Amino acid sequence: MDSTKDYTSSIETRHFINGQFVPSSKPDTFEVINPFNLKPVATVHAATAEDVDTAVSAAAAAFPSWSALAASERQDWLTKLSRAFEAALPEIVHLEALSMGKPLHNEVSPIGISIMRYLIGKGYDVQGETSLNTPGMLAMSLRQPFGVTGAIIPWNAPFLMLLLKITPALLAGNTMVLKSSEKSPLSCLVAARCLQEIDFPKGVLNIVSGLGRPTGEAIAKHMQIRKISFTGSTATGRAIKVAAAQSNLKKVTLELGGKSPLIIFDDANLDKAVPAAAYSVLANAGQACIQSSRIYVHEKIADAFVEGMKGAIAAMGKSGDPLGEGTGRGPQADRIQFERVMAFLDEAREQGLDVVVGGKRENREGYFVEPTIIRNAPEQARVMREEIFGPVVCINTFTDEDEVLKRANDTEYGLYGSVYTRDVGRAMRLARAIDAGTVGVNVTSPMIVVDMPFGGYKQSGDGRENSKHVFDQWTELKQVLVAMD
Ligand code: NAD
Repeated sequence: MDSTKDYTSSIETRHFINGQFVPSSKPDTFEVINPFNLKPVATVHAATAEDVDTAVSAAAAAFPSWSALAASERQDWLTKLSRAFEAALPEIVHLEALSMGKPLHNEVSPIGISIMRYLIGKGYDVQGETSLNTPGMLAMSLRQPFGVTGAIIPWNAPFLMLLLKITPALLAGNTMVLKSSEKSPLSCLVAARCLQEIDFPKGVLNIVSGLGRPTGEAIAKHMQIRKISFTGSTATGRAIKVAAAQSNLKKVTLELGGKSPLIIFDDANLDKAVPAAAYSVLANAGQACIQSSRIYVHEKIADAFVEGMKGAIAAMGKSGDPLGEGTGRGPQADRIQFERVMAFLDEAREQGLDVVVGGKRENREGYFVEPTIIRNAPEQARVMREEIFGPVVCINTFTDEDEVLKRANDTEYGLYGSVYTRDVGRAMRLARAIDAGTVGVNVTSPMIVVDMPFGGYKQSGDGRENSKHVFDQWTELKQVLVAMD
């Protein structure tokens, strides 16, 4: 990656509607600040409800011709787009580093391109079934696009989130209005420029920037949008469902937060478990929905594990300029995120919890928080129950499998769970019993694979992304009955 190239001279800050970059209809903007040095990066246009209306109209006008294309034509367009995205990756990761502090050497955006390619290959599998089970009848089901769809994405992996939404939606024949996060809108606007560069059919994908209110809310409430896919916090996911219910009962897919347990038995290979756990805690400065934020380690090996974690965190958690070669950990994304993490840590200290490593802001400019280990926090403590979204982990001990399983599942979240053990039977019992959309056995987050469904149990989500099943979320299912007599 070329970290010396300056991509800031040509940052696009307007909305992308109907194939063109346009300013907001009313003068309204927000600032993007570099969380490393607190310098302004860009002043970005904020979309009003009227701008969202304009984008929806463009998407509605584009729908008939886009949905009428052969699957192979949509595959061709998305393949062309994936190539343009790939060429723009250095700029994309550069702007993400500047706007929300993700180091250049993050593997998330290239994985997104792999997922995009996998899904493009499935473009012809958007289809229904037939049945001759009713005498005199040929029955069939059709999978059909919704029409205009909406997507709202978070800031922690903006370009990846954009890919996960647009690829299956557009392949299935939908058109879309997507809102990026106000903390990291710039890489999505590079994606918009890629659409323009390849002359992608106008209006099929419209990208607007803006705050949750009014921009996100206008999408969630829009009467012409029949399906919305949201990734973000559980609190906002609930607001989106309410807005959907109060408007036109649009279908909703939710990918939400987590408080993922990692259980380490006394027969685990600690040489593998320790670095994997440390990476899970620190990746993206702990700002990952699937972070293993609650670790339960068997009492017999707890001290050895914690000592190992201290060393691994010190080695991996060195902070620096996200644009610097080899920087492992950047700052928290912005002041709000930084203050949120610090509030959890201050409370932990006030409660007298055992903070064995870290616990404070780093003594340097920027929104840096020390990698932090809290030991033996009560199960009911806020640090154990709520998503902190920072480089913070709680490590507790256990002795009994059934009891640790109960504690692991005693959460309203259910995004990811992991177990380290050499006992295959135990691994499979837990893989079955952990209430989470993904379970890792001798592997933990951020590992996901491109061809399996990803999503959350309980309040971690509704619906799944990735895999061949994703098209179910982006299509209506119709039955057609043909009398044969
Ligand atoms: P957030 O909920 O604050 O914001 C997400 C998006 O929703 C932003 O674009 C925001 O502008 C918009 N929004 C806010 N209020 C809105 C409203 N009332 N109506 C419509 N839109 C609104 O989340 P965040 O802080 O951007 O992201 C972090 C959260 O995302 C964490 O909880 C994390 O776990 C979760 N996340 C989940 C996944 C997953 O796949 N499950 C992936 C990444 C992040």
